[in-house]
Amino acid sequence: MPARPSARVRKSPAQPAAPKLKIHVLRCGKTGVDPAVLDRDISRNPLAYTGLFRPMSNRIWLPVRAYLIEHPKGRVLINTGWNPEVRNRPLYTLGPMLYCATPYLPVGESIRERLRALDLSPDMLDLVLLTHLESDAAGGLCEVRKAKKIAVHRDEWIAANALIPRYNVNSNNWQGIRVRTFTFPEPALGGQPETPYRDVFGDGSVCVVPLAGRTPGMVGVRVTWGGKFVLIVGDAAYFEDNWNLLTLPGPSFDVLDSALTLDYIRTQSKDPNCLCILASHDPAVQPDLIELGLRANFFYSGNRTNRVDPADKE
Ligand SMILES: [Zn+2]
Repeated sequence: MPARPSARVRKSPAQPAAPKLKIHVLRCGKTGVDPAVLDRDISRNPLAYTGLFRPMSNRIWLPVRAYLIEHPKGRVLINTGWNPEVRNRPLYTLGPMLYCATPYLPVGESIRERLRALDLSPDMLDLVLLTHLESDAAGGLCEVRKAKKIAVHRDEWIAANALIPRYNVNSNNWQGIRVRTFTFPEPALGGQPETPYRDVFGDGSVCVVPLAGRTPGMVGVRVTWGGKFVLIVGDAAYFEDNWNLLTLPGPSFDVLDSALTLDYIRTQSKDPNCLCILASHDPAVQPDLIELGLRANFFYSGNRTNRVDPADKE
């Protein structure tokens, strides 16, 4: 006689939820620049990207991004957007750089305001990593000075503090703030040439990679989770053409390094496990939340290409 089906359903033991890794793409205002910033070949004037002697009506408005990584082991903020003082005293805050990049920072979009909207305070950040030290990346440092650690590559720190004219930054952005520097380990002698990196949590999930060229010590971050990865490239590239067609951005500190970096980004973008390349000023990158699940069942509500935030079209 066949056994009667039991009315009781055997429950499998409760499985702990797979940890997720989140990347918040935060819009922190905009920057108005000459189109030659994106592509140096659109003008024969090698200094066209500075905007000097070029019509202001030419300027295009690009979003300024910061990124917050929420990892099970800690929070990492990448870049800090503009100093909120640009709202009231732009020339005092930016100095001569004001002529190269016009700031726009509406209320609610400074980095502290963005964090507050996520119920976070600066002391809850384990690391603030600056991809470089230009004012739309390091300007908001004054708002996150209470983070547990603030770091930038040593080459960037040295160049920015030497105040060389080719690298126009405002050192007031980090006055009185403790910024630590790091370098990359040399590739092992005799071994395969590998991209050196710094592993933030010691598990390979958040790795800082060198992307020098556009500025002397530019870095990016490769976030790997569940076998997929996202590459945050800061200002090493502005939009897809920079890495797909290897067109150089206008303000390249070292053209050869910049080309090598773009080639690296292109190689990464072709990797089938690459979910997206996030460039700080790419209009195709929307303010968004990217969630990576442990079993590669990622959820990304954005799109890899050509999605323009309506708010960025103004
Ligand atoms: Zn920038």
